Amino acid sequence: MVRFVDVPGMQRWVRMTGLEAAITGIAAAIEADFLRWPEFDKSARVANHSEVGVIELMPISDDRTYAFKFVNGHPGNPARGLQTVTAFGVLADVASGYPTLWTEMTILTALRTAATSALVARVLAPQGASTMAMIGTGSQSEFQALAFRAMLGIDRLRIWDTDPAAMDAFERNIRPLGFDVVRAQSAEEAVQGAEIITTCTADKAYATILTDDMVGKGVHVNAIGGDCPGKTELDPRILRRSDIFVEYPPQTRVEGEIQQLAADHPVTEFWRVLRGDAPGRTSAEEVTVFDSVGFALEDFSALRYLADAIEGTDVYQDVDLIADPVDPKDLFALVADAAAVSAHI
Ligand code: NAD
Repeated sequence: MVRFVDVPGMQRWVRMTGLEAAITGIAAAIEADFLRWPEFDKSARVANHSEVGVIELMPISDDRTYAFKFVNGHPGNPARGLQTVTAFGVLADVASGYPTLWTEMTILTALRTAATSALVARVLAPQGASTMAMIGTGSQSEFQALAFRAMLGIDRLRIWDTDPAAMDAFERNIRPLGFDVVRAQSAEEAVQGAEIITTCTADKAYATILTDDMVGKGVHVNAIGGDCPGKTELDPRILRRSDIFVEYPPQTRVEGEIQQLAADHPVTEFWRVLRGDAPGRTSAEEVTVFDSVGFALEDFSALRYLADAIEGTDVYQDVDLIADPVDPKDLFALVADAAAVSAHI
């Protein structure tokens, strides 16, 4: 049997855990796995592109557990009443190859993306940061806000989205949770006075969400939305004067903001900073950029954290996903009665 978590199951788990506790728990799992980075068998995700979006498979394993996520990115979907990003994922046992967990991951991806952003910002953002600008207030945005409050104490937000309805929804969801929210009239206005800038827009284009003059000294940029070839958010001049931190360079060079730079432009792998093998922020004036594209290890961590957390709860159902005959060499036994029917005809 394979444990299966559907969307209502995921909602029950988040409700019983609490959103901020779920995010901080996943962040701790991601941190622990980043600290043992060399133990993983890693690869860049496999992406199938179309004119309107991308469908990706994200595999990774250590010597005991394998994980993969199916995820799409379709910036035009909301106009059709659909999500830009949806996902589901699987954990499997390396020893047998059998799947052990199959789960919805649209909500889990929002949690793990926010957990990763806040984990990175906790290391790289300037000391005492209290205000975050958020450009793009779509599906990921509330999760980002909660993660930054839970892990960095940020509760002052300055928001901008080209779609006023997206800002309405964000304010409706976030204000009752005690955040101080300033709604700006432009991205330029939103970034005023913010020590952290999160860009979380969706457009299949080389967009310029932040121009060079909008990013002052000492700022940490959490750049989430540039995550595909031909889909970026930052003016490359910002990148050239920043220290850039990435997840897995072979994937980020193709998908991240740094696709706009030379292939050998220096970047720092975040796991090395966590392990103390590479410097993080080295001065109060330095601009740091987390060029986030989303890496399979973060999904692995979220999946294994979920698998442990739901043990003994009613969050999952056991589903008979794997054909597993009593005699492992007699798969036919499972359909033999159908053969008898055919023979009869
Ligand atoms: P979404 O479509 O729900 O929200 C995106 C928002 O960006 C929309 O409200 C849209 O109006 C706004 N927007 C578009 N262009 C803009 C502009 N020029 N200025 C201001 N706002 C603008 O999408 P989402 O699920 O919130 O995802 C946001 C982005 O994050 C997507 O590009 C997605 O691919 C990416 N993403 C990255 C990761 C990661 O790990 N790095 C994970 C999940 C999603």
